[in-house]
Amino acid sequence: MTISKDREYWVCANCVMDTSDSLIQFDERGFCDHCINYYNNILPSWYPDEQGARELAAIVEKIKQHGEYKSHDCIIGVSGGLDSSYLLYYATERLRLRPLAFFVDTGWTTSIARENVEGLIRSLKLDLHVETVNWDEMKDLQLAHLRSQVPHQDVQDHMIFAALYNYSVKHGIKYVLTGANYSTECVREPIEWAYINDLVQIRDIHRRFGSIPLKTLPVCSMFKYQLYYRYLRGMKVIKPLDLVPYTREAAISTLQDKFGWTPYGHKHYENIFTRFYEGYWLIRKFGYDKRRPHFSSLILTGQMTREEALGILKRDPYDKEEALSDMEHIANKLGISSGELIGLMKDENRTYRDYRNSAWMIKKAIELAMLLGAEKRNFR
Ligand SMILES: [Zn+2]
Repeated sequence: MTISKDREYWVCANCVMDTSDSLIQFDERGFCDHCINYYNNILPSWYPDEQGARELAAIVEKIKQHGEYKSHDCIIGVSGGLDSSYLLYYATERLRLRPLAFFVDTGWTTSIARENVEGLIRSLKLDLHVETVNWDEMKDLQLAHLRSQVPHQDVQDHMIFAALYNYSVKHGIKYVLTGANYSTECVREPIEWAYINDLVQIRDIHRRFGSIPLKTLPVCSMFKYQLYYRYLRGMKVIKPLDLVPYTREAAISTLQDKFGWTPYGHKHYENIFTRFYEGYWLIRKFGYDKRRPHFSSLILTGQMTREEALGILKRDPYDKEEALSDMEHIANKLGISSGELIGLMKDENRTYRDYRNSAWMIKKAIELAMLLGAEKRNFR
């Protein structure tokens, strides 16, 4: 594990976040600042009860009015993963909304994810829009990121978010519903682990390590998303799962019973590249284990015990055989040898600070969102 060299190793006494988050702070009880933020800032204003239901009913009313004469009244990005699948079901069957389901095929979707999405669409009788990204450009951008040696390899996340927002604004769909939620994500990943959605950085890394021009990949700058789309084009991003009782186990069993939905080994493992990147690249190369913020969220919201989490964290997130076969598959698909991919794992680590970035603007945007109450999670 690559733990910050000038700090003693420490793990929170209440959750499982540790000093692999290099800026983590602890109080005299040994509780970390993610926990303290949860108890002080998130919990007191989180109402997955009657109050949330009333708030949601008012929003749903507006969405229905807005979409009365349109073929869809809102849009939901689906990945086949738990949160977005549950949201699609909840919005359609429970809230009686008429969402357009939106899926971005980045080239890495597993057959389970595809079947999950298809099962939901069929049963709920929804329209599905699939946007397939240009694979040559995607491959070039992903290879550039691997060669840049930064931890954050999930450019797919940017494509998915950008494609969804660009489509919504272009087609006049005002309401974007997202599966983002406190229940499974109240502990935010440190920015040094997951530095995404900075178009300046994406372009700089591609300029240095890419080889073909990016002409068609969906992109969206922070400025466009935070200011232009939201304030000038009136796009509204709604997080319904924070206003209703939502827990991982109950959601899985509902989806299994109703749609024959298949769960994955771990959050985000519905995607082959993400599975490799989170389960191997981030952990082996940087010592960043994304299970820590995820399990910590489940511990804080009473869905997992700390002992249970510590037990699972001792084991690798995915089986060695599967890791090796995924690596071979990924190298092949990216057009490099397995040896080259292994070599990239061994090269010197870099951070987002080593490339051009607009971190100051992203921090300001998040601070503004915190001021407005749209973001309450601990951020640094
Ligand atoms: Zn903690």
